[in-house]
Amino acid sequence: METFESERAPLPRNMIENSMFEEEPDVVDLATESPSYAIDSDDAVYEPRSSRLLVRGLGENDLDEDEEDYESSARLLGMSFMNRSSNQRSVASSYTRQQYSGSCPKPSTKTTVVGVLILVLVASMIMVVYFLPGCTFTRKGCRKSNSTMDSIYPISTSGELFPWTQLRLPPSVHPVHYNISLHPNLTFMTFQGSVSILVQVSNETKNIVLHSSDLNISKVSFDGKEVHVLEYKPWQQIAIKFPEDLKNGQYVLNINYTAKLSNSYDGFYNSSYVDTNGTKRVLAATQFEPLAARKAFPCFDEPAFKSTFTIKMTRERKYISLSNMPKVKTTDLKNGLQEDEFKESVRMSTYLVAFIVAEFIGVSNNVSNTTVSVYAVPDKKDQVQYALKTACKLLEFYNAFFDNVYPLSKLDLVAIPDFLAGAMENWGLITFRETTLLVGSNSSSIDKQLVTSVIAHELAHQWFGNLVTMSWWNDLWLNEGFATYMQYMSIETVFPDLDMDTEFLKVRFEALAKDALNSSHPVSTVVSTPEQVEEMFDAVSYEKGASILLMLNATLADGEFRKGVIEYLQNYSLSNTESEDLWNSLSQVSNKNVNVSEMMNTWTVHKGFPLVTVERKGTQVTLTQEHFLLNAENSTSDSLWHIPLTYVNDSCSSLSSCKQVFHLKDKTATLKLPDQVKWLKFNFRSDGFYIVHYDDEGWKNLIDALKKDVNVLSCKDRAALINNIFALSRSGKVSFREVLNLMEYIRNETDTAPLTEALFQLGQIYRLLDKRSEFDLASRMASYIDQHFGDLMASQSWDLESSVSKMTLRSALLEMACSLNIGNCSTQAKHLFDQWLASNKTSQIPSDLMRTVFRVAAQTDEGWGTLLDTYKNSINDQEKRKTLDALASTQDLRKIIWILHNSLDGSEIQTQEFPLVINTICKNFAGYLYAWDFLKENWDKITQKFPVGSFAIQSIIMSATSQFSTKTHLTETQNFFSSLGTNGSQMRIVQEAIETIKLNMRWMEKNLNTLQIWL
Ligand SMILES: [Zn+2]
Repeated sequence: METFESERAPLPRNMIENSMFEEEPDVVDLATESPSYAIDSDDAVYEPRSSRLLVRGLGENDLDEDEEDYESSARLLGMSFMNRSSNQRSVASSYTRQQYSGSCPKPSTKTTVVGVLILVLVASMIMVVYFLPGCTFTRKGCRKSNSTMDSIYPISTSGELFPWTQLRLPPSVHPVHYNISLHPNLTFMTFQGSVSILVQVSNETKNIVLHSSDLNISKVSFDGKEVHVLEYKPWQQIAIKFPEDLKNGQYVLNINYTAKLSNSYDGFYNSSYVDTNGTKRVLAATQFEPLAARKAFPCFDEPAFKSTFTIKMTRERKYISLSNMPKVKTTDLKNGLQEDEFKESVRMSTYLVAFIVAEFIGVSNNVSNTTVSVYAVPDKKDQVQYALKTACKLLEFYNAFFDNVYPLSKLDLVAIPDFLAGAMENWGLITFRETTLLVGSNSSSIDKQLVTSVIAHELAHQWFGNLVTMSWWNDLWLNEGFATYMQYMSIETVFPDLDMDTEFLKVRFEALAKDALNSSHPVSTVVSTPEQVEEMFDAVSYEKGASILLMLNATLADGEFRKGVIEYLQNYSLSNTESEDLWNSLSQVSNKNVNVSEMMNTWTVHKGFPLVTVERKGTQVTLTQEHFLLNAENSTSDSLWHIPLTYVNDSCSSLSSCKQVFHLKDKTATLKLPDQVKWLKFNFRSDGFYIVHYDDEGWKNLIDALKKDVNVLSCKDRAALINNIFALSRSGKVSFREVLNLMEYIRNETDTAPLTEALFQLGQIYRLLDKRSEFDLASRMASYIDQHFGDLMASQSWDLESSVSKMTLRSALLEMACSLNIGNCSTQAKHLFDQWLASNKTSQIPSDLMRTVFRVAAQTDEGWGTLLDTYKNSINDQEKRKTLDALASTQDLRKIIWILHNSLDGSEIQTQEFPLVINTICKNFAGYLYAWDFLKENWDKITQKFPVGSFAIQSIIMSATSQFSTKTHLTETQNFFSSLGTNGSQMRIVQEAIETIKLNMRWMEKNLNTLQIWL
């Protein structure tokens, strides 16, 4: 699966607009007040404190003690607004304490006696339970022992005991083949299904246990005889109990059922869109990864239960149906319906099964005996050619690179109008967001870079994930890390103009930032609950996974990595693996100097990554490694990594041939240089997943060298120095003064990677200062950015540009310039917008500048209205997203309120874009506190749309909280999330959010003075 990202915040898997949430919002919904966006200021009444309390059903006196000091974000908002406009800016005051009105009455004697009796009774029961042979719950769940007496069985829906006590299914029965027949009704949004599963009993057992969720099962038969089925809903399991042990052998299990097409965008879900004639169209599609195949048909829904599948789909004539395999026949049924039957599939996991019923049209091409097709809604048929050409090229590349030909005779790529993920790699039927597959005639190479990336990622999955699959979700990185790595590697080879190298470097920096938190986790992590499985779809599995593969490839001799991968795919074709299997395959082909397994285990088993500190005295270099944590207080980590440490020096520094390697396995080691050097730079091109700190002399020599000539180091090395020193400052290892020392060289910098990294880091600090209402410092930071980047900003062209690298750079520069009002950026942007309007939207705004131009335009009522029309009418999804981003960047609170409501309920803005909306609003001062209140008040609605733990929720939480840096907001965040109980308090992202706020607070405490002096 491909998560969907914009800048550095992950964006959502999509959701469908629907009418699930019809209740009145607690804050005035301005959308209902007016047909377009015309907002009367009197309507925008915001009642922060009282509305929140009403939503929670609390009176003021019901506040618990922790909440008493709780400062309302909205209060802050109001204060800050007033302060901002009157130029008397200060941190807003907190609410006064609410006193409890009553005191606790003394208990009577009778009450005391009864209380003591109850206590004795409860204590006795606890002791009985404690001493009974019970089930030991561990993170892996309740392990069942041999005795049938010592497990606590759950109660099934019917009241009988459910015969299984674990989240994971028993291994005694596994599926061999599924025959699935489905009939979705797109008028009533329901479907009928029947599944016939050929099962193999490999250990005698009295039970068959499998998954089923939200299905109404009407009839179950086993080997032709009707049987009784038990259901335990909390674990989404069903079971059939037999009076006698089932002997080893094969049996047939038949299940008939009905269900609703899901509104929640996983399982078999309904989706809709409005075509250019204004007609609403509906479709049904699937999204099963990780745990939702069970919502479409009863199945053994774990990746290791591979099986073959034959699928039949009944539909109305106006629709087509698609599934993993090619269609073999269509049969006319009564009532004008038709049934499509698809060829038996290859052996695969349930999460890769897919089917779609829709009014799509497609174009096809043949490559290496595979028919590649791209499907979209008819209105967008002109936007599919780029994807088709790209998919064909990449398929040929992978067929050759893996020395293992794609095994199916067809490969469909389908753009779904409403879709949760960026894309999903279902075998033979890859589904995409429209943004990640369709390319319009005005699209630039930067738009193509995104589409190409996602196609390359999903195609890589056809081998990594589909052909060879991780045994369990703990090793999700084997799927996602590999697909992510292959996506960069394949594009660099096949489409070198797309500048994926710079993009991959940025991704590695993102992974380092996330992995430097205490709340991070090892690449391979034990997971059992559905939420834990969802949470594995994060930067560690994808981006760190890809980064450590790059490090390994750079460490092995040329060609060895590919040989090992080919070996791995051949050895484990159509089966399941663990990390160790990959390392073993690579060890077999690598020269004996590197023990792949020993080295790589240190990178998958430990969380985090090392900081290498370099101290040089003449030719003697002392190297020390430690676990790099942004917040190292109370850290007891003694993890050691096997680091293939690379370095270059002043005599040879920019070519690959200059690179030297030292394997640092211990805490400390000494490297003896053969000759004197002026300086050393470690982690050549940032290919390794670690950061480096030098002694004072080491930093000084590097900075001096860069000031003389930036080209003494490769652009990636320069970008890495910038990245590393900001991280060191954030951790407290260097002062911000030292960061500014390095930044002095930046005026000579012209390359995209170091400049965009510097802008990103400075922009983050600017936003933190702004949000803390440190307006004086924020404006001095803006001047600092102007002084260091102003000339470069002014020299950017606003014409069409073809180089991806130049576009990436200028869009970062101009976005910053316009947002900080530097130079004549806003005037230029306004000029381009006016030209575009005058041409009736036919003149072309360069696609990489569209967001910047639209953001400037969105700050006036007229511009915002025009953009809203553009958003509603555009059939180019990439343009639509840029327009929406601009709409959400407004500083007008009434419009912000309107957008938040409309994107969550899906009425005017697709719900799939809600995380983008939150992300953009939270970047700006005007709406970020309101967005946080909105998140709290609508938490239940939000988590019905975006599952707890999912990357959409991860993105929403980080967007809303990552710029808090005060004790008040820390307390508020802690209180809110701890009040959620099972609906979110346990998420790892919550720990990450809290840790991030603490880091922001500490950084501010330490560096505000430095900034006062030096900015
Ligand atoms: Zn993926």
